[in-house]
Amino acid sequence: MNSCLITADRLWDGSGGPTLVRPLVRVSDTHIDAVERGMPQPATCTGERYDFPGCTILPGLIDTHVHLVFSALATNEAIIEQVTRETDAELFQRALANAEAALRAGITTVRDCGGKNAVVQAVRDAIRRRDVVGPDILACGMPITTTLGHCHWLGLVADSLEEVDAASLRMLAEDADFLKVMATGGNMTPTSDPMKAQYGSEALARIVEIGRAAGKHAAAHVLSRAALPEVVAAGYRTIEHCDWRVEEWRYEFDPDLARRMIDQEQYAGITVSGTTRRAFLEEIRLDTSGPIRRLDMRFECERRMMDFGVKYTLHTDAGVRLTPIERFDLGLRTAQIEHKLTPHEILQAATATAAKAISLNDRGVLQAGKRADLIVVEGDPLRDLTCLEKVKAVMKAGVWVKK
Ligand SMILES: [Zn+2]
Repeated sequence: MNSCLITADRLWDGSGGPTLVRPLVRVSDTHIDAVERGMPQPATCTGERYDFPGCTILPGLIDTHVHLVFSALATNEAIIEQVTRETDAELFQRALANAEAALRAGITTVRDCGGKNAVVQAVRDAIRRRDVVGPDILACGMPITTTLGHCHWLGLVADSLEEVDAASLRMLAEDADFLKVMATGGNMTPTSDPMKAQYGSEALARIVEIGRAAGKHAAAHVLSRAALPEVVAAGYRTIEHCDWRVEEWRYEFDPDLARRMIDQEQYAGITVSGTTRRAFLEEIRLDTSGPIRRLDMRFECERRMMDFGVKYTLHTDAGVRLTPIERFDLGLRTAQIEHKLTPHEILQAATATAAKAISLNDRGVLQAGKRADLIVVEGDPLRDLTCLEKVKAVMKAGVWVKK
């Protein structure tokens, strides 16, 4: 059995407590044996020892919404053209390259919210078999959508209740880890309308039930209030984007709906994709399209939801325009600038809360018994989030993948 000791100047364990000074992490095989403070001298040390002076140890990052087959090109049209043209073999190569890049950037788990055919499951399985190196992947396969609806070009169209049942069962048969529905239209698909619901409450509820019967959670894409009440009522575990827009230029937070989300332990997935990164990207500052002109309203409404107590994760939607998977750090820094979250709150959303949201209870915090998914960054990210740009070492399930 492999075992090792890791030391650094600081450790932030994701549990909500303060940073530990001069910690020592004992890893045994795939799991954490102990996290100790004050760097005690190990009585018996059979394994190797790794010291990271000047560094901080954190739980591996978790991005709860990515698209491994997307290429993060500058326009939606170019991304869609590529995804619809390419063969599964080509898409597999891109997804694999994205997965590898994510892991090198310290993202040890990703949840893929929409691929083509069963490409993402194939990448997931290749990583599980250890044929290739990458993060743990949860895959929904293809998202369920309507004729010409959001992401219909990924190929899983279902309009009637019977078709919705069949699509859900097909994804389970194709070994999806969870089910994803496009409950409203999306900005990326011009034939769809973000202000309109794509499904009624019955269809939305069926997807959750079919998933639940198979022991899997469900995620819903929601870009306006047109579908939010129905999605909350149906019991979706995560509400992707969780957008409260009621009219073209009006957002309206609803405390009753938010209360219900809290009571039902539902998670809002706050999107910090390229289009939110105006602090970093000139292209976005110059862009006058609706989603970007609405950013202030959107951020303000999201901040209200956070203050109200709704649980949230911060995800990148990686692969969509201007959102390379390895720049999770820019998304997280956007949340600091735009939502005024503290580094502690941001890291919590991207580790412990993210793990809970996607029902992976073996990770997200650095404690005895949890999986040894950890990263080492130079400096102190609790003081300065830019530390996340340079991840020095990454361990996944007790194995160094970058060191
Ligand atoms: Zn997405």
